[in-house]
Amino acid sequence: MTQMPVPPGATLGFLGGGQLGRMTAMAARTMGYDVRVLDPEADCPARPVANHTITAAWSDAAAAAELAQGCAAVTLEIEQIPRPSLEAVAAIAPLHPGVDAVYIVQERARQKEWLAANGFPLGAFRTVKHSTTTADAVAALGPSIVKSAMGGYDGRGQVRVKTPDEGRAAFETLRAPVCVVEAFLDIATEISVLVARRSDGVAVAYPSSRNHHTDGVLTWAVTPSGVGADMEAKAQALALGIAEKLGIVGLLATEMFILRDGTLLVNELAPRPHNTYHHSERAHPTSQFEQLVRAICQLPLGSVEVVRPGAIHNLLGDLWTGGEPDFTKALAVPGVRVHLYGKKHARPGRKMGHLSADGATPDEALRRVQQAYAALAD
Ligand code: ATP
Ligand code: MG
Repeated sequence: MTQMPVPPGATLGFLGGGQLGRMTAMAARTMGYDVRVLDPEADCPARPVANHTITAAWSDAAAAAELAQGCAAVTLEIEQIPRPSLEAVAAIAPLHPGVDAVYIVQERARQKEWLAANGFPLGAFRTVKHSTTTADAVAALGPSIVKSAMGGYDGRGQVRVKTPDEGRAAFETLRAPVCVVEAFLDIATEISVLVARRSDGVAVAYPSSRNHHTDGVLTWAVTPSGVGADMEAKAQALALGIAEKLGIVGLLATEMFILRDGTLLVNELAPRPHNTYHHSERAHPTSQFEQLVRAICQLPLGSVEVVRPGAIHNLLGDLWTGGEPDFTKALAVPGVRVHLYGKKHARPGRKMGHLSADGATPDEALRRVQQAYAALAD
């Protein structure tokens, strides 16, 4: 159903007030919207930016309904919200993306089965519910990654295995009722493609972003990705096709693998802003955060052309072990900006902020964030 445009001045609701909610809230406030946020943490990163914050668990459907009251549209920064809470929102205000799309994406096995059933390209995988079937899957697939179907992010809830016995042990260690066993792929390049789509089906795909992970966590991303025109066209068509089939309103990030033999596969989906597009505010006229606001408000989607190569580098809590890093060192590198999420407690692996940079070339933008990061880590 096509929604009427929601003009600035209206109130938008956000399920989730982490860094993605915070940066989206900043974009919404810039455009003149009021913002209501629901998050389990009272001092969540979006709190200082929101007009109103509700502190409650994701399972609290009454709190989700309270969030939706008075909102012209509600969006989310986290997909793992129980369906009853999503339905409680959708009964009161337009929820974008909708309940069914989020439900498909939020559980890894369900998401992969849906992608496979709809003919989208995936690596070999099996859904498993027992340690013995996990061992069987590893015997069939060879070296694999066992991933819990619920609750994993930043490489958590994943175990890399080589033998059926290791597979059996991994299932027991993960203690998840459902896991996915994925064949370990020979990846040449990782990219992601972010799509913004409105309720009337109008959609745009950002140029792909090239990503680098360390131990399953994103380290840096850069745009343009440099994958070549044919691969770019294929990746864009794939991402747009998935967003349309899912009926996404808002944003959908499709993480993809390009194998050494040139095969393009889908890794996973995220129906929200994505870490690999944090530099969209440098590389494009429209940041992913502003684009999300435009999409859920049925406004004209903003331009996604590359105005200047850009890159991001994550700042994880590990950097804080010796106290607050000296950000003057990063800011001294030309083109570099520091983005901090206002998280009070740094833990190893926790995303505390990121660095962004522009550059005359993608390599220069990437070198700048890497140089600034090295200066902080020094
Ligand atoms: P995030 O929340 O950061 O997206 P996640 O916890 O959902 O991560 P995945 O995207 O499944 O984890 O995997 C994280 C990274 O691990 C991938 O980006 C890739 O580098 C590597 N990886 C995942 N699956 C495979 C695979 N089947 N073969 C080889 N490497 C893989
Ligand atoms: Mg991922």
